[in-house]
Amino acid sequence: RATLGVMGGGQLGRMFVHAAQRLGYFTAVLEPDAQSPAGLVSHHHIQTSYDDPTGLAKLAALCQAITTEFENVPAQALQTLAQTRPVAPGAAVVGIAQNRIEEKAHFTACAAVSGVSCAPYAVLETPAQLQAVLDDRADLLPGILKTARMGYDGKGQVRVKTAAELAAAWAELGGVACVLEKMLPLTAECSVLVARGWNGQVVSFAPQRNVHVGGILAVTHAYEGNMPLALADRARDAAIAIAHHLGYVGVLCVEFFVVDDGSAHGDLVVNEMAPRPHNSGHYTIDACDASQFDLQVHAMASLPLPQPRQHSPAIMLNLLGDVWFDADGQLREPDWYSVLSLPGVHLHLYGKLDARAGRKMGHLTITGSDVASVRAVARRAAELLALPGLEDI
Ligand code: ATP
Ligand code: MG
Ligand code: MG
Repeated sequence: RATLGVMGGGQLGRMFVHAAQRLGYFTAVLEPDAQSPAGLVSHHHIQTSYDDPTGLAKLAALCQAITTEFENVPAQALQTLAQTRPVAPGAAVVGIAQNRIEEKAHFTACAAVSGVSCAPYAVLETPAQLQAVLDDRADLLPGILKTARMGYDGKGQVRVKTAAELAAAWAELGGVACVLEKMLPLTAECSVLVARGWNGQVVSFAPQRNVHVGGILAVTHAYEGNMPLALADRARDAAIAIAHHLGYVGVLCVEFFVVDDGSAHGDLVVNEMAPRPHNSGHYTIDACDASQFDLQVHAMASLPLPQPRQHSPAIMLNLLGDVWFDADGQLREPDWYSVLSLPGVHLHLYGKLDARAGRKMGHLTITGSDVASVRAVARRAAELLALPGLEDI
């Protein structure tokens, strides 16, 4: 029986496992945590660290092809696996996405074909580079200092207004490699999911508009009219160009900013990419005829990549651990009964045992026949669960 492997045991791995199993595959998950969302539902759970040579050899021996569900998997581990098995996405592209400095260099290198640039920025790896920025790059302030590696959900980022704040923030981050990005006047954010096969074939989903609260994705709007068509087309073309330029295989998510430049629709700026299915693409499970996870399975297993079609407008609401606490800070189960009584609500819970503030525990996708009814139900669900971002739904 063919087995597909995944590095990492989080919710993205879990949803990948579900998609693979539906096609009859066995799955193997390499993940140190005994109670991980993906490990709990997989046929094989290799419970060891991501760089354990014995574990990696076991994964390779079991699997026909291997993917990763988080971008901070050691690139070396993917390289080791690739010696004997197809690995998608590959170590080189995951390495680029792991490091904002390389990522921005890549975006800049393909700006001529993608048609979009990243925010103005400077690389800060040495005290001399910091000094040069303090002296000459007042244009980058106010800005956001971001660690080059390991940041997610706004972690490893400090907003700085003045040169003094920048120097203090860099010291506070431990003087590690960073980028300083100019703070842009965002009017919206969106992301695009593309899937590219070994043969270079690419399919894509329409751009989804994303609302972040406190640096974490809160709401995804996925329906026609969620953003101006001209911007949506540009974003999709840019994401495809970026995937081609990388020689990418698998599902790639590219995040964009819509920036107020005085024009009617604003300008498009590329923010970052995730070398995997993405939280903003979870709506594809319930609203499209092939999900981002189905396409990941197809891409890595060398199956055809059909162009996905969205059959319902959708809104996705993230469920963070905060939802499990009442107004007095007491832990309790949210009122699923009321939420599930609403039409077109798809509740996904990831099987995580301990709810913590800011921890992604699940999501809701609301589908319906038209945008107005989807928005009305999403608003009601957000009210029932006291979710943030209500004013944007
Ligand atoms: P993710 O969880 O998406 O990987 P991350 O920690 O890598 O997040 P970014 O995507 O770089 O962080 O930034 C998080 C959010 O902060 C963005 O979605 C956006 O709302 C805001 N932000 C980041 N950079 C800028 C900028 N240059 N100008 C204005 N807002 C920004
Ligand atoms: Mg990121
Ligand atoms: Mg981001």
